[in-house]
Amino acid sequence: MEHPIEPSFATRAVHAGREDFVALGVHAPPLDLSSTYPTPDLDAAARSFDSLVMGDEPLGSYVYQRLFNPTTDRFERGLAALEGAQDAAAFGSGMAALTATLLAAKSRGTHVVAVRPMYGTADHLLTSGLLGMTVTWTTQDGVGAAMQGDTGLVVIETPANPTLTLVDIAHVVRQAGSVPVLVDSTFATPVLQRPLEQGAALVIHSATKFLGGHGDVLAGVVAGSHAWVRDIKHVRAATGGLLHPMGSYLLHRGLPTLALRVERAQATAGMLAQQLVGDARIAQVYYPSLPGQDPRGLLGTQMDGSGSVLSFELARDDAATLRAFVTALRLITPAVSLGSTDTLIQPPALLTHRVVKEDARRAAGIAGGLLRLSVGLEDARDLWRDLEHALQVVDAR
Ligand SMILES: *Cc1c(COP(=O)(O)O)cnc(C)c1O
Repeated sequence: MEHPIEPSFATRAVHAGREDFVALGVHAPPLDLSSTYPTPDLDAAARSFDSLVMGDEPLGSYVYQRLFNPTTDRFERGLAALEGAQDAAAFGSGMAALTATLLAAKSRGTHVVAVRPMYGTADHLLTSGLLGMTVTWTTQDGVGAAMQGDTGLVVIETPANPTLTLVDIAHVVRQAGSVPVLVDSTFATPVLQRPLEQGAALVIHSATKFLGGHGDVLAGVVAGSHAWVRDIKHVRAATGGLLHPMGSYLLHRGLPTLALRVERAQATAGMLAQQLVGDARIAQVYYPSLPGQDPRGLLGTQMDGSGSVLSFELARDDAATLRAFVTALRLITPAVSLGSTDTLIQPPALLTHRVVKEDARRAAGIAGGLLRLSVGLEDARDLWRDLEHALQVVDAR
């Protein structure tokens, strides 16, 4: 039944992808693990196969899990509703989602314009030429000048990993002209930022992070128009990479609580950023809401809050101090990844961004001693006590 009013974000988060539950007589999404589906009507199955293989809807039988899975489809519809997108495609990882998107964009042009910094492996995938595409790295003001006749896609990430630099999506879209812009919005989630509203053609997430939110799913998802997502699903049907239904089930389960988790972690991150910025043992803190860190005024317009990832540099930035600091933490877990219930810390130059060459890393503002903190759902005072304790330990060395 059509709703008389357009439901708000919180309502969509609870109901999207679940509209048929009452008719089905269920109250939780059915988890369908079938790798194949019966095809008693061969002609109907053949028609459905032809449709699915091109990235279109099933026409009757789902035929085979790589082509379609109803549990994954439910999560995709839920996520698309939160991004204000017509459709979405879910993958077994964020990198699989990016790979399929790049392959789908390749027919429009084999050149990519991209803004640094971005997630280390995404940088590596573009720079390595592994997919037969070339890249021009630039800044958010240099996108227009970097465009070529064969540019098929512009790729940005905001907030950018790991410096939390905010990239002005509408500014990039204007420079890209008719070329589509893909925004990695992993750090923001649709709770804080919906890039399609700013004119982006596509939004991508490592769903491993905040969308999963509990550190137990590896997944990626890309959302956009019917036409784009169809092309991406075409690539997915041909190359594989569909998200496993168990992952889709967990992701869909998490959407109703996404805003609660994101807002709570953000409040704690804001408090920790304030504590760190006022501490003489800290040289630099990167967090969008700190003074001077949002020169384009994007908070409150493009993005509804700073999120819950922050980065900082210790005043003593030698490698031994960095290691001693991380080792002294008791509550905060040294680990890559982010957006989990628990707080994680990692040095990007040594781990996530080690695949980016040192000069490119430095030019993008990623210092050797930078630490990235993904704030979780613990009590804010306990987290500060843990950081404070580790600061005391390195101070006494
Ligand atoms: C983790 C991450 C990715 C890659 O996603 P995987 O799920 O690890 O493949 C891409 N972009 C950003 C911003 C990330 O944090």
